[in-house]
Amino acid sequence: MTSPILIIGAGLAGLTCANYLHQAGRPVLLLDAADAVGGRIRTDVTSDGFRLDRGFQVLLTNYPETKRLLDYDALNLQRFRSGAVIRLEDGRRTTLQNPLQRPLAAVSALTAPIGSLPDKLRILSLVRHVLKHSPDELLARPGVDTRTFLRRYGWSETMINTFFRPFFGGVFLDRELSTASNFFEFVFQQFVTGDAAVPALGMQQIPEQLAARLLAGTIRLNTAVAAIDSEGRTVRLASGETLRGSAVVVAADGPAGAQLLAGAGFPTPPLAREGRPTTCTYFAATGNSPGRADKLLRLNAALAPALAHNVAFPADVSPAYAPAGQSLVSVSTHGPHGLREAELTECLRGELAAWFGPAARQWRHLRTYQIAYGLPVYAAGQPARQPRQLAQGLFRCGDWAAYPSQNGAMAAGREVAELLLR
Ligand SMILES: Cc1cc2nc3c(=O)[nH]c(=O)nc-3n(C[C@H](O)[C@H](O)[C@H](O)COP(=O)(O)OP(=O)(O)OC[C@H]3O[C@@H](n4cnc5c(N)ncnc54)[C@H](O)[C@@H]3O)c2cc1C
Repeated sequence: MTSPILIIGAGLAGLTCANYLHQAGRPVLLLDAADAVGGRIRTDVTSDGFRLDRGFQVLLTNYPETKRLLDYDALNLQRFRSGAVIRLEDGRRTTLQNPLQRPLAAVSALTAPIGSLPDKLRILSLVRHVLKHSPDELLARPGVDTRTFLRRYGWSETMINTFFRPFFGGVFLDRELSTASNFFEFVFQQFVTGDAAVPALGMQQIPEQLAARLLAGTIRLNTAVAAIDSEGRTVRLASGETLRGSAVVVAADGPAGAQLLAGAGFPTPPLAREGRPTTCTYFAATGNSPGRADKLLRLNAALAPALAHNVAFPADVSPAYAPAGQSLVSVSTHGPHGLREAELTECLRGELAAWFGPAARQWRHLRTYQIAYGLPVYAAGQPARQPRQLAQGLFRCGDWAAYPSQNGAMAAGREVAELLLR
C-alpha cells in the first residue's frame, strides 16, 4: 500500500492541500496538535447558546480560492451589509456604503465628514484600477507599505485616519498600515467585488466542510509533531511515535512551521515567525440589538488610547449566533494592549457606553480571546508566493508562506497539492 502524504496542520492550508490530493486519489494523513480542525478558524458554542468565533473573522465571498473549493450554499452564508459606520474622534458617526453595490449611497458619501471631495473621488479611481486587474496581478504588483501607498495616491491624512486606518487596520490587524500595499490592493478589490459573510452556524463550518470530504481516519487530532527529517519522509510525534510517509507537507502556522523546518535544516527568515496579535471580547446584550439590525460593522477612527477598534453584532447577520431575545456584541482590539482581561473588559465597557449609550455598561461579559498570532506579518517586498518545495519530499504551505488571509492559506495549500500531483 502507498504510504500517505503526511500533512502537519489541519487549518485551511492543510485541509485544502488534503482535499485536492484526495480528489486525485492520493492517500493523506493530517496531523494536528489541536482538539478540532480549523486552526485559527474555530467557533465555541457556550452552554447558553452563543456562538463565539475565536476572533472576529469573515469570509470575503469573492476570494478565488474559497469560490473554487467551498460549497457556499451548504455553508448557508449570511452576509454583512457592504460598508461600515465610522465613529469619528469627536464622537460623530458617519455611514459609508460600497458605491458599486449601493450607487445612491455613494452620493451621500460625498458629503460624509471623512475627507475632502477629491479624497472621495480618488476612491472611485482606485475602484477602477483594481477592477482592471486579476487578483493575482494585484498581488504580484511591487509593494510599499500601505500608508505610503495611500499618501502617494494623494489621500489626505484625514481620509487615511478616518477611513483607511480604521477599516484596513482592522483587516490587517495593523493600525499603522505597515502591511504591504500589493495585499491592500488585493483586499480592496475583494471588498469592492464581494461581500463579507459568515456561515450561519459560525466560521468553523468552513474547515469542517473541508474535513468532512476526507476519508474517515485521515485526520489525527491531539497529535503534535515534534520533528521532521530533511528529506520529508518521516515525522516524529511529541508522543515519541515515528510515522513514515511518501512526502511531508508542513502546514502549521508561522512560528510552529518555522520551528519544524529549522529543526530539519531549513531556517526561515525571522519575519516569518512574527505575527500580529488581536483580542476579541464578547458581550451579551438583552432586548433589541445595539446594532439596530443594520448588519454594518462599526469602526472607531479615534486614535490611541481607544481600545474598541471595531464592533460587530454577529447575531444581526446570522440569528444562530445568539439565543432568542439576546444579542451578541463582538469587540476587537488590535495590537498589544498590556491589560489583564478584567481591566480590558472594564475599559471597553466605558468606551462602549460612550459609543452606544449607558446600557452598554450592563452588557454581560461572555468571553475574551487573546490571540498572539492572528496574522503573519506581511511587509513590503515579501513575495506573495514563497518557495513551496524545500527538498524532494518536503513541502510547506500556510498563510505565512503566502499572504495573511484565508485565500493565501488556501492558495498555498492548493499549489503544494499541484506540485505533489505533477
Ligand atoms: C482573529 C482573526 C481574524 C481573521 N480575520 C480574517 C478575515 O476576516 N479574512 C481572512 O481572509 N483571514 C482572516 N484571518 C486569517 C485566517 O484565519 C488565516 O490566514 C488562516 O486561517 C490560516 O490558515 P493556515 O492553515 O495557514 O494556519 P492555521 O489556521 O494557523 O493552521 C495551522 C494548524 O497547524 C497546527 N499545528 C501547529 N503546530 C503543530 C504541530 N507541531 N503539530 C501538529 N499540528 C500543529 C495548529 O494546531 C493549526 O490547526 C483571521 C485570523 C484571525 C486569528
